[in-house]
Amino acid sequence: MESSEANALKALLPTDASRRLQALRVASGRASVVLDAGGLSAGEREALEGDVMTALRTAPGVSDVNVALTAERGGGKKRRIIAVGSGKGGVGKSTVAANLAVALSRGGHKVGLVDADIYGPSQARLLGTEDKKPVAHDKKLVPIESAWGVPMLSMAHLAEPGTAIAWRGPMAAGALVQMLEAHWDGAEILVVDLPPGTGDIQLTMLQRFKPDGAVIVSTPQDLALIDAARAVALFEKGGVPVIGVLENMAGYACPHCGEVSDPFGNGGAQAAAAQMNAPFLGRIPLDIAIRRQSDAGTPPAAGEDDQARAFAAIAQAVSDWLVTAS
Ligand code: ADP
Repeated sequence: MESSEANALKALLPTDASRRLQALRVASGRASVVLDAGGLSAGEREALEGDVMTALRTAPGVSDVNVALTAERGGGKKRRIIAVGSGKGGVGKSTVAANLAVALSRGGHKVGLVDADIYGPSQARLLGTEDKKPVAHDKKLVPIESAWGVPMLSMAHLAEPGTAIAWRGPMAAGALVQMLEAHWDGAEILVVDLPPGTGDIQLTMLQRFKPDGAVIVSTPQDLALIDAARAVALFEKGGVPVIGVLENMAGYACPHCGEVSDPFGNGGAQAAAAQMNAPFLGRIPLDIAIRRQSDAGTPPAAGEDDQARAFAAIAQAVSDWLVTAS
């Protein structure tokens, strides 16, 4: 039964939002609204969300408003899953996953992002959605809209801050299933940020949601490349084609003059990829601007400068791979 509180809030919604309303609940002062955003552009979706926020924020008994937009149907096309993995942590795998998703979206694809990195779920920070919580509709999660055209779900949204790491085995696998089986209705590509290494989450991913392809992120150092080779082997053994190896933190971009120097040598990852029989996807320099923008929740791939171009080139390579692999 609908609560009278929810009904009172429904009456406050603008006409377009009322037409698109799928669910509205109120609990402990928090109003959760689910709207069908089918057919809307990114700008229109943002405006719709803003209108609902404005209409409900000041309503009596409401201290917080959470708006979730479901995407339009994908026209029956099969959704492609791209796993982003690495042999070890700290190589920039999450940064690459976020920016690959944003760059693919800018390239005209409908993309969703799943953050399954249980050891350091950072996608909410990278896409600036830390203050949002997903709601469920028809027993499935509704992805959170980010400001970058990429809806997302993260382990961090499902766990209390700092506790995701305590989830091992079945709990973590359960969270992965919930995120992958969410309302991704409009997404043609799901980019999945996997934890580093070769553990339970990777196995669930391979067994239950076999990705169409994997992108492996490595830094140029030999040790990182040895770990990357393990990640490549894991996917190949699971029958998942490796789209390519991406060298991150390749060379150091001077913040003053922009010149790129190579403290760890040059070409190591490309040679290692050749040895692993995996394509080389390109390099992203170690650039303070990437770290700063990432920490601020503004993905560099959404900008207009060199970093955005580097991610766009990688997204184009992945997009070309998807065409040839279909
Ligand atoms: P992982 O997911 O592999 O653990 P992250 O994506 O969380 O790694 O990156 C680790 C840190 O390195 C973050 O602070 C991130 O902003 C920074 N970082 C990643 N790639 C770059 C880069 N190309 N240039 C500068 N900083 C980077």
